[in-house]
Amino acid sequence: MPLERILMSKPDVGELEEQYVVAAIRSGWIAPLGPDVDQFEEEIKHRAGVDHAVALASGTAALHLGLLAQGVGPNDIVVTSTMTFAATANAIAYTGATPFFVDSDRVTGNMDPALLDEALTKLEERGTPAALVLPVDLLGKAVDYTALASICAVHGVDMLCDSAESLGATHKGKAAGSFGRASVFSFNGNKIMTTSGGGMFVTGDESLAQRVRHLSTQARQPVVHYEHTEIGYNYRMSNLLAALGRAQLSRLDEMIEQRRKWRQGYRDHFAGFSGIEIFGGPEDDEDNFWLSSIVIDPQVAGVSANDVRTVLDQHNIESRPLWKPMHLQPVFRDEPRLTNGSSEYLFENGLTLPSGSSMSWGDFERVIEALAIAVVPQ
Ligand SMILES: *Cc1c(COP(=O)(O)O)cnc(C)c1O
Repeated sequence: MPLERILMSKPDVGELEEQYVVAAIRSGWIAPLGPDVDQFEEEIKHRAGVDHAVALASGTAALHLGLLAQGVGPNDIVVTSTMTFAATANAIAYTGATPFFVDSDRVTGNMDPALLDEALTKLEERGTPAALVLPVDLLGKAVDYTALASICAVHGVDMLCDSAESLGATHKGKAAGSFGRASVFSFNGNKIMTTSGGGMFVTGDESLAQRVRHLSTQARQPVVHYEHTEIGYNYRMSNLLAALGRAQLSRLDEMIEQRRKWRQGYRDHFAGFSGIEIFGGPEDDEDNFWLSSIVIDPQVAGVSANDVRTVLDQHNIESRPLWKPMHLQPVFRDEPRLTNGSSEYLFENGLTLPSGSSMSWGDFERVIEALAIAVVPQ
């Protein structure tokens, strides 16, 4: 019998989740909204250290409404990271605004602060200052918010932070999701914790949270009949999914701890290898360890990321390149950017390895054995 396929990040859902969802069904709160949604928002607020949270249908919906609530629309420019999942740039496009892509810091893949500064200066000189900056916490490592916040302050621009991948991570001891004017989490199936599909908008600004809440429920006016004075969206999270999220959130630390062990395992395995580094740099105690990746210098390591991927695939193990930068995507080809080659290097030479918290130690050993076949120390 062929060995079962080892996935990069299989959802980690079990009995506790089953109990919570069954309880929600039996409570009769099947519609969107309900007590589990309220509780889930409270628990995320507590976890992320923010005053307001709005549970939504997806991280993409949270980005979309976060942009709209901050007044972003056609003729605006939103500066974002080129190294991200398409959802970040798509949400900007939904509003009619133009995404401006900034390249990465070579070590973390996160937005390069010096390049951001340069991009904001250029846009000001051109008479088209950025409306908003949208940094992305890549693969569970928070952006250098200290650097970004001071640059944004100098340029007088706000941040909406895409923390879709970084729930549970911190920057200088402060939770991802608590930076900038507002942030966004995702609970999609492959994220560190899941509601099968869902997201959350979080902010310290009450009026912003109210605005997002209003837009997410068809922008219905508070009167007895259905009265609408503007276009709204059906973006709220369902109560059943919030119940699943509450069970997952109660296990978040345990899931982070398991993923941390895989990261350490990969670090130990590759310790003696030249030309192979663990993506994200040596300092990772503030990560949520969502995904572990390696970056391979093929000249030094003697193999390429694609060679390694091929060998893993032959052993029925899933691995994948890092995000393909947005400025290389056909759909965003014509959008403005400021690049330095880092994200292209990381895309070509990075490889994400199985990192899921539900992976067994036996499966992890299978991955290490296949890696030992794929890469021999030089
Ligand atoms: C997953 C993800 C999103 C989108 O979240 P969904 O819940 O899938 O809509 C946005 N940005 C980044 C960086 C992501 O990884």
